[in-house]
Amino acid sequence: MTSLPDYNFQPATIKFLEQSPKKLFINNEWVEGNSGETFATRNPASGAVLAEVTLANAADVDAAVAAAQAAFPGWSQTIAAERGERLFKLAALIDEHADVLAELETLDNGKPIRVARRGDLPYVTKHLRYQAGWADKIEGSTVPVTFPDQLVYTRREPLGVVGAIIPWNFPLLMAIWKLGPALAAGNTLILKPAEQTPLTALYLADLVREAGFPPGVVNILTGPGLPTGAAMAAHPHIAKIAFTGSTSTGARIMEAAAKSNLKRVSLELGGKSPNVVFADADLSAAIRGAQWAVFSTAGQECVAGTRLFVERKVFNEVLEGLTANVEKMVVDHGFAEKVHVGPLISAEQLERVAGYITEGQQAGAEIVTGGQGLSAELKGGYFLKPTVFSYQDDSLRLVQEEIFGPVAAVTAFDDEDELIARSNATQYGLAAGVWTRDVGKAHRYAHAVQAGTVWINGYGMIDPAAPFGGYKMSGFGREMGKEAIDLYTQVKTVWVSTQ
Ligand code: NAP
Ligand code: MG
Repeated sequence: MTSLPDYNFQPATIKFLEQSPKKLFINNEWVEGNSGETFATRNPASGAVLAEVTLANAADVDAAVAAAQAAFPGWSQTIAAERGERLFKLAALIDEHADVLAELETLDNGKPIRVARRGDLPYVTKHLRYQAGWADKIEGSTVPVTFPDQLVYTRREPLGVVGAIIPWNFPLLMAIWKLGPALAAGNTLILKPAEQTPLTALYLADLVREAGFPPGVVNILTGPGLPTGAAMAAHPHIAKIAFTGSTSTGARIMEAAAKSNLKRVSLELGGKSPNVVFADADLSAAIRGAQWAVFSTAGQECVAGTRLFVERKVFNEVLEGLTANVEKMVVDHGFAEKVHVGPLISAEQLERVAGYITEGQQAGAEIVTGGQGLSAELKGGYFLKPTVFSYQDDSLRLVQEEIFGPVAAVTAFDDEDELIARSNATQYGLAAGVWTRDVGKAHRYAHAVQAGTVWINGYGMIDPAAPFGGYKMSGFGREMGKEAIDLYTQVKTVWVSTQ
């Protein structure tokens, strides 16, 4: 095993890392896989290899699909409350193992351990319990048709085998967002975590078994988009792909779905969310909100409020306040005593984000704080200083494209019409924020902005009961709330003659 950061790890964390390479989890068994290949998952704070993980190929996807198909009749017909019980049991086990899971998340993803422990893990079980509660509340209806002597009713039935393909920014939370509603509704599951962060999904496998899910209900395959994810998207016996990731990959999955079996897809994709500060806002709350809207998770959040629109009369005040706050943010590894901004996920991501910064400067945006360059002791990890740009030209790539790093772009606006037009002038539509004390103005903006979620005088809240998803090229389908359950079911209409 490789060197770990100086931290008092749980013995179970060390033990888990020592069992390397990791195998695939199919039919409640750990299996070798057919490719004979492994890949490394790294600690982004140091670049050190944490574990070798099995690369699942198309034959492994076939094996997982076969197991999930075989499990489907039994699981889908299990008493609904019993399905819920399994999920509640899994939530209890995750709570029991939360310290280990948080440590693995920080090692694999880089996020501050405080965030993993107080953010990710409690969210994971809160969301799982919410979805578990839906298992026995998925109802059909009776339909008042125009024919006499007919009883017509609907059933909400599961789809079959669901493939979940998820990114690396909230590895366990994303897994649960899909596992929860898929299983509550009676589907069986194949989960592919991102290649950068497979560890918590693999740890979860043993908890799945312990929670008493029958073999084949949950299968976990590790591997990159190619071949593993692509083999899932193209598989003729997967009924749905639930995907979170980039817009370009989402489009590829949709294409593969169309060409294989018209499988259902739900796509939670990228964003370039506007966050608006009107002059009448509580400016200190708005500045703090704007800061965390961009820089939590080192900017690697799909909802990041990366375009900050500030009403011109308070532009300088807000920019100065934001800059002062950002300059106090501590960049360090996730187990450091004090850390606000951890590393980016990978060397490639660091290079990509740094590229946007260089190009933004060349294209005429002004760096107010940050940019490249870090203290020597962080070299080796994929760190970047939180960076704030000031700009006016909405056509800059920096302003149009999702960067997925700690980069804010701040601009001034003069009136509401201009604001709404500029807010909506990207291909994305995931989220938006607006800060003002004027209720009318707040709601006018909330209704006019093209976004799946709008926060008024706040930013970034996510709740299991509140539907979440995109407009435009941020995707379609909703996670959370009852909408999530609906997307894992299909409606059957039954006609009964009562003559
Ligand atoms: P990504 O490259 O699209 O990867 C997401 C997942 O898709 C990974 O598991 C990836 O595998 C897999 N994948 C890649 N190519 C594939 C293919 N051809 N067929 C099937 N699967 C494939 O995205 P990322 O760079 O990891 O994640 C960042 C992106 O996710 C950002 O754009 C962000 O906005 C978005 N995101 C959206 C939300 C949301 O809720 N809307 C939440 C979080 C993140 P490997 O990575 O293992 O190769
Ligand atoms: Mg990793």
